[in-house]
Amino acid sequence: MRGCLSAASNPPGIRTSEHLFRGAYMYRGYFENFLQKEDKKIAKLVNEEFKRQDTKLQMIASENYTSKAVMALQGSVLTNKYAEGYPEKRFYQGCEYLDKVEAEAISRLKKMFGAEHANVQPHAGSQANMAIYLSCLNPGDTIMGMDLASGGHLTHGASVSFSGKFFKAVSYGVSEYTNLLDYEAIRNLAKKHKPKLLIAGASAYPRQIDFKKFHDIAKEVGALFMADIAHIAGLIVGKVHPDPVPYCDFIGGTTHKTLRGPRGGFILCKSEWMKKVDSAVFPGIQGGPLMHVVAAKAVAFKEALQPEFREYQKQIVKNAKVIADYLSKNGFNLVTGGTDNHLMLVDLRNKQLTGREAALAMDKAGITANKNRIPFDPLKAFETSGVRLGTPALTTRGMKEDQCLAIAEMIADILNHPTSAKVAAGVRKKVKVLCNKFPVEI
Ligand SMILES: *Cc1c(COP(=O)(O)O)cnc(C)c1O
Repeated sequence: MRGCLSAASNPPGIRTSEHLFRGAYMYRGYFENFLQKEDKKIAKLVNEEFKRQDTKLQMIASENYTSKAVMALQGSVLTNKYAEGYPEKRFYQGCEYLDKVEAEAISRLKKMFGAEHANVQPHAGSQANMAIYLSCLNPGDTIMGMDLASGGHLTHGASVSFSGKFFKAVSYGVSEYTNLLDYEAIRNLAKKHKPKLLIAGASAYPRQIDFKKFHDIAKEVGALFMADIAHIAGLIVGKVHPDPVPYCDFIGGTTHKTLRGPRGGFILCKSEWMKKVDSAVFPGIQGGPLMHVVAAKAVAFKEALQPEFREYQKQIVKNAKVIADYLSKNGFNLVTGGTDNHLMLVDLRNKQLTGREAALAMDKAGITANKNRIPFDPLKAFETSGVRLGTPALTTRGMKEDQCLAIAEMIADILNHPTSAKVAAGVRKKVKVLCNKFPVEI
């Protein structure tokens, strides 16, 4: 069981002094007892959403289930407070308790990664990246990151993102033959364009990233180096992915993916960048921090510091390997041939199926994933030739290799018969049984 600080035996939704979290509604009780009366329409939709999360297999690689404590804090009185500034340096009175909350979150995050400095205020991963850029770049400077089409993120220089509009963005991709990062090609591109900031990190790359190689390239061309660990932060804390901290000037990340905390972002940096990073977050790009989320981050960090968290991360990777092995032995092509991390990309071109069709068919049968472009995809982002599968959420429910093998069989069945109502109904039934055995904790 996960670290749960809430008193489950309390009557749900009743705010009493007996509550361990005084001032925080128990999540479930909040909509069952109170929100029902306040706003039936929204209460009903939240309940439907909970049922969706509970009765289907969530395989979107960037999603997870947080603990009850994390959810309770996001519904707490901390949302009522403005705390512009940083601990002991606020612009409003009344921050004496929240100062301690934020200081604790910072100290836990530094401990988790062995980092010199941490900022826990970015509202999300995109804001973490934006603040890093603001701390070390001027508009028009050159940044170099992985292109979206190869598995990078919008904020790494895509033309539709601020990162592509305010900076001169140069993109590297993956090798056409192996679909792996080609460090020699990245090095040559960096030598040619001399970026001020080199960015490593991805949203849909199924293999480990060699941060030392990136670091060496950055040093060779005189660039600063940042890693965006939004997806793999939990894997790094769990020591199932190589550690970027010794090699990076900056690290941007999210707390809600493999890290299993509230939706939010964070920044780590070397102490020489501390002041610039902090003032880039506030007042650079944000106003008041979401202190209810900062408190939830602190609890998630506490959970991540427990030995069980490492076991959880190991299991995520084991589960992904089981699914990848089964699919590749049964006629499916996986981008790069498999996975080293929490996700895989299925190339559907040999199945005469698009990513959009595959994701729709899977969702109908109770398995929720997303269509995703594969490297050098002939199809556009709305259609795509691939589907991305991730194991963090399944693993949080307690599912292990046996269940993942069964899930892989179900996925193969659907993708081999995407239009069969009979196959969809059969899988839906199996999914329900599996979900019943591994209920979502709320
Ligand atoms: C998810 C992600 C982000 C940030 O996403 P938000 O939705 O803004 O929290 C940034 N970089 C990468 C590589 C990501 O996968």
